[in-house]
Amino acid sequence: MKWTVIGSWGAYPEAEGATSCYLVEQDGFTLVIDLGSGALSRLQQYIDLSDIDAVVISHFHHDHVADIGAFQYSCLVKEQLGEIEGPVSIYAAADGVTDFDELDHIATAGRLYRIEKPLELGPFTLSFIQTKHPKSCHAIRVENGESAVVYTADTAFFPELAGFAKGSDLLIAESSFYDGMDGSGPGHMTSTECGQLARDASVSQLWLTHLPHFGEHAQLVQEAKAVFDGPVELAREGLVFDLRR
Ligand SMILES: [Zn+2]
Ligand SMILES: [Zn+2]
Repeated sequence: MKWTVIGSWGAYPEAEGATSCYLVEQDGFTLVIDLGSGALSRLQQYIDLSDIDAVVISHFHHDHVADIGAFQYSCLVKEQLGEIEGPVSIYAAADGVTDFDELDHIATAGRLYRIEKPLELGPFTLSFIQTKHPKSCHAIRVENGESAVVYTADTAFFPELAGFAKGSDLLIAESSFYDGMDGSGPGHMTSTECGQLARDASVSQLWLTHLPHFGEHAQLVQEAKAVFDGPVELAREGLVFDLRR
């Protein structure tokens, strides 16, 4: 199971970057988790868009879905060119039902995932937990029978998230704020809370993502490391986690 960071900005992408987007690959299967602003352009630095087998969306905030429309148009063009066949599936939770209607297009099909039922996609099993966020949002655990990676999506800190992330090989946690700030109102975590989550879940390593547009990001790493003993990295574009190595 190989994860590549495509976009890690919160809110909006800075120049040449993207907001939330992760590429997950194994055995020729290509999964994209979240398609934030700028993601479709950055993805093409790593894969051909024709190779995408499925997209899974954590929630319908713009910094996670802004490029869905562009992706639908790319699928349409590539279908007309004969580069892909049939609709590409875009999965979202049943409770985002108003926005969900927009996932159906000529060459894409909206499909539901349910929190209570693991989703099998190619070699992966995905499970979900509702997070604490103003818009309905789901953290995602991806397993392949050997390893597990957990992506918090957007959330304020809550203890049950540690149980959901328990023992994972990699935790990708949203660090929208610095130590001492309070992100719980808008539904986000601080660097220290990310470290606490990684420690409580006994994960092997931690990536900090959904990065803020202020302060020095290196400080986020130091603050998380003050709580969590394992490796901590900033989720910069192109950062790779590959358990096959
Ligand atoms: Zn959000
Ligand atoms: Zn967000």
